[in-house]
Amino acid sequence: MLGNLGENLTNTMKKLVGMSVIDKKTIKEVVKDIQRALIQSDVNIKLVLDLSKKIESRALEEEPPKGITPREHVITIIYEEMVNLLGSEAATLEINERPYKILFLGLQGSGKTTTIGKLCRYLQKKGFNPAVVCTDTWRPAAYEQLRQLTEEMDVPLYGDPNNKDALDLAKKGLQEFKNRKVIIFDTAGRHKEEADLIAEMDELDNIINPNEAILVIDGTIGQQAGEQAKAFSQATDIGSIIITKLDGSAKGGGAMSAVAETGAPIKFIGTGERVDDFEIFDPERFISRLLG
Ligand code: GDP
Repeated sequence: MLGNLGENLTNTMKKLVGMSVIDKKTIKEVVKDIQRALIQSDVNIKLVLDLSKKIESRALEEEPPKGITPREHVITIIYEEMVNLLGSEAATLEINERPYKILFLGLQGSGKTTTIGKLCRYLQKKGFNPAVVCTDTWRPAAYEQLRQLTEEMDVPLYGDPNNKDALDLAKKGLQEFKNRKVIIFDTAGRHKEEADLIAEMDELDNIINPNEAILVIDGTIGQQAGEQAKAFSQATDIGSIIITKLDGSAKGGGAMSAVAETGAPIKFIGTGERVDDFEIFDPERFISRLLG
C-alpha cells in the first residue's frame, strides 16, 4: 500500500531495532531515511523538514520515561509525529438523522461512482439500507454505471438519463426516498469549467441541504489534492474526504498529508477497484501499519 512508503518505513524501523547503540549519529541516520521515504511519497518538503526536525530534537532531548528503553522511546516519537502529520483522531460517519443525506462530490475519474458502491456496501453491512440518486447530467454513461452497480447490491436508484436538470433530479430523488435512512446523491464531475462545476455543487447543496458532503479525491494526484479540497469547500462545507487509489499510488503520502492540512477529516480510503477495497481511515492504525 502507498507505493514504497510502507516498505521504506518498515525497513527504517527494522534498522533502528537492529542498531547496537542509539546516539546522535544513529538518530540522524534514521531521520534521514524517514525524510527520504516521505519525499519519495510526494509529501510536501516543508512538512517533511518540520517533521524531521521535531523527531530529531525530541529524540535527542527528551529523556525516555521510566522503564522505556531509548530505542522504544525513539520509535514512539516517530510514531506520534507521523500521526500528527496526517491529522488527529479517526473521524467516523455518524448516521444520526433520518433521512441522512449525503452529497458526493469529486472530479470525473476520481473514483466517485466506485466509491459510492463501496460506501453502500459499508452501510449495508452496518444495517443502514442506503438509496442512491443520480444527478450527473453531464456524463451520459453515469446513470448506466450507477444502475449496474446498485442493481448488483440491491440498492434502490433514482435517476432519469433524459432529464438534464440536476436540481430537478435532486428534488425528485429527495421526494422518492424521503422515508429511507440514508440517501446518497451522486453529482457531476465534469463541466466545461471548474467554476461552473463548483456553482452547480453550490446549488445542489442548497436544495439537498445535506447532513454530510463527502469529497472524493484521487490519491495519485499527490499534493494537488489539497488544492482540490480547497476548491470544493467553496461550494459546501466538506464534512469528510475519501482518498481513492491508495493501493498503487507512490503519491499517496502527498495526497493524505495535503488533505490533512486543509482540516477536512479523511474518513475512508479506497485501496482497490473492488467494492470491498475500502477502509475506515484511522491515522493511528494507519501509521502503525506503515511502520510495520
Ligand atoms: P468517477 O468518474 O469519479 O465516477 O470514477 P469511477 O468510479 O468511474 O472510477 C474511475 C476509475 O478508477 C475506475 O477504473 C475505477 O475502477 C478506478 N478506481 C476507483 N477507486 C479505486 C481504488 O481505490 N483503487 C484503484 N486501483 N482503482 C480505483
